[in-house]
Amino acid sequence: MIEYKNNRLVINRPTCSCNYHCIPDANLYIGTDIIGNSVEYIKNHINGSKCMIVTDAKLHRLFGQKVIGILSTGFEVFTCIPPSEDNLKPDNAALGYIMMEYKPDYDFMIALGSGTVNDLVRYASYLLKIPFVSIGTAPSMDGYISVISPMLKGNLKINIPADYPAVGIYDLDIMATAPPEMLFAGFGDVIGKYIAKADWILSSYITGEHVCPYCIELSDQAINLVLSNIDEIAKNSSLGVKALLEALLLTGLAMLINTNSRPAASNEHNMGHFWEMMKLEEGKPHPSHGEAVGIATLYCLALYEKLFSLNPASINPAHLTEGNFNASARESMLLKIYGITVGRSIVTDNPDEPISADERLKRVDIFLNKFNEIKEAMSFLPDYRDILSIYSKLGGPLNAEQIGIEKYLLKNALLYAKDYRSRYSIFKTADELGILENLADEILDIF
Ligand SMILES: [Zn+2]
Ligand SMILES: [Zn+2]
Repeated sequence: MIEYKNNRLVINRPTCSCNYHCIPDANLYIGTDIIGNSVEYIKNHINGSKCMIVTDAKLHRLFGQKVIGILSTGFEVFTCIPPSEDNLKPDNAALGYIMMEYKPDYDFMIALGSGTVNDLVRYASYLLKIPFVSIGTAPSMDGYISVISPMLKGNLKINIPADYPAVGIYDLDIMATAPPEMLFAGFGDVIGKYIAKADWILSSYITGEHVCPYCIELSDQAINLVLSNIDEIAKNSSLGVKALLEALLLTGLAMLINTNSRPAASNEHNMGHFWEMMKLEEGKPHPSHGEAVGIATLYCLALYEKLFSLNPASINPAHLTEGNFNASARESMLLKIYGITVGRSIVTDNPDEPISADERLKRVDIFLNKFNEIKEAMSFLPDYRDILSIYSKLGGPLNAEQIGIEKYLLKNALLYAKDYRSRYSIFKTADELGILENLADEILDIF
């Protein structure tokens, strides 16, 4: 179970025998009313006297004075608030602003905020080769201790490697003031781990990808934590916020240990990123990360249910058509769906796609031959109807439309979000079997 020593999370060594893990040296402090100890926590792990705190205008209004006041008792603190019209974006302009505000004699940076602020500071401090401190303000996503900064290069969502914070300070009293939609977002991000786990295990059957049992265990623990605290999360109580935050940090740890986001992200994340990119392209607001992941998870669960209720004998590999498994057809599809700039980047970033006709047949063969065994291995997946009733208990959205995603964007996400990266998912299985379009039509209207 989760242990603490003076509010510091104890990170255990993985118990698996995989030989590639990274043991994170993360210093994460979690507790009620701990923000007053920030100077001590930071001094435990970082040498230096000058720091730049980065936040957005709204968070600065809410917490700036208090947090900067506390930090100023131990450090010389400079404040950086990148300008933004509405919500701050992790884009070229915001990163450029932070880099220009930075002075060479600053010793470290502080991110006061949640997703976007952390992503920006993570990347900026990585480029500047200085440590950063993450002071969280909402349990809304699992990226606090990520080594990846999802950034926007124009309207393309790119995942840039960076580093995790040297110190993380997560005061539950601050977190509990986050609005309910941010808690729902955090919950949605954790529920998405069902799909990440299922797709990872599915891939181990179909492509032979290695699965780490310890990371799967962390992910199970995260899911169980939020499921056993639904009532508390619905109340925004300190207990609920703590469970949610711990779940998000556990999945963050799984990513650090596995050195990639495989334990925590699959096509439910691709769908969320797809919607975000498409909305940016249209110049319209997009759903938050966790909200999008939570809703996409419902459709992924429905696809699992549909695919495994098929009779495998109804699929004849001799009748498969080439479709987008042809390289130039795939390229035209990507340019059409994603637009020229983003589409071209996807082509360049995924040189292994499309897979060859032989590889496709091999995969189809494995799937059909091991259908029952794989179906059994997926029996941990919940019924999407049960997840829907939890979402309604939390007052969250219940379908794509309710987060502003029109039918055509839902359908395109079901068909093409999987192409955004080569990571294997059930959507690739359905595509390889030549039945993705039919299944997508069947699940478009079920919520
Ligand atoms: Zn996420
Ligand atoms: Zn392992």
